[in-house]
Amino acid sequence: MTILMFDIDGTLARSQGAGTLAMTRAFRQLWGIENALDGMNFAGRSDTWIVPTALASQGRECSAEDLTRFVDVYVPHLGDALVERRSQLCPGVLPLLEALSRQEVTLGLGTGNFRRAAEAKLAPLGIWHYFVDGGFGDDDPDRTALLARGLGRLRAHSSEGAEAVVIGDTGHDVEAGHAIGAKVVAVRTGYAEPGELDAADIVLDDLSDLERSLQALCGG
Ligand SMILES: [Mg+2]
Repeated sequence: MTILMFDIDGTLARSQGAGTLAMTRAFRQLWGIENALDGMNFAGRSDTWIVPTALASQGRECSAEDLTRFVDVYVPHLGDALVERRSQLCPGVLPLLEALSRQEVTLGLGTGNFRRAAEAKLAPLGIWHYFVDGGFGDDDPDRTALLARGLGRLRAHSSEGAEAVVIGDTGHDVEAGHAIGAKVVAVRTGYAEPGELDAADIVLDDLSDLERSLQALCGG
């Protein structure tokens, strides 16, 4: 049995900047900060890293309460922004998830999104229900730590000694996946710089070749 942990942004879906737009609006609404994310490289970073880092650049601290308030304001903005920007699934994702759902695998998420943001992104695209659980930005700002938490949850849905596979689009996914002992399948549908994915066990241009993708994810 295999445990699959999918990243969201650039791997399952492209939200065309909707997350950035919604966060920018939330920063403005909550704290009066304009263009809070300008100049930040946050590809592959968790929401719980992005928010405190953006606040710190304004000389402000971020309490646990601030994060909770941020999620409450951000998620509705995210819903609107995803519609405005016409978020969409990456190529081949839907047939792949449908095929995987009929196999002996545990389908999970490993994403830096807040859990509520992950649902806001995936539910309108019709794929939230495929995933039994996962690791999320709420668990830890650090990607390795949040993947480890998610893997622990997913093991409860799987058989003992199941192999873990992390699927992602950035060097952060590759590094964190290997750090938790997972095999890493990287996809070039997202936000990686040239060379960033070289350490992955397998690199695919996208997930549109069903047989090849299944082989990469479940082929041992
Ligand atoms: Mg990503």
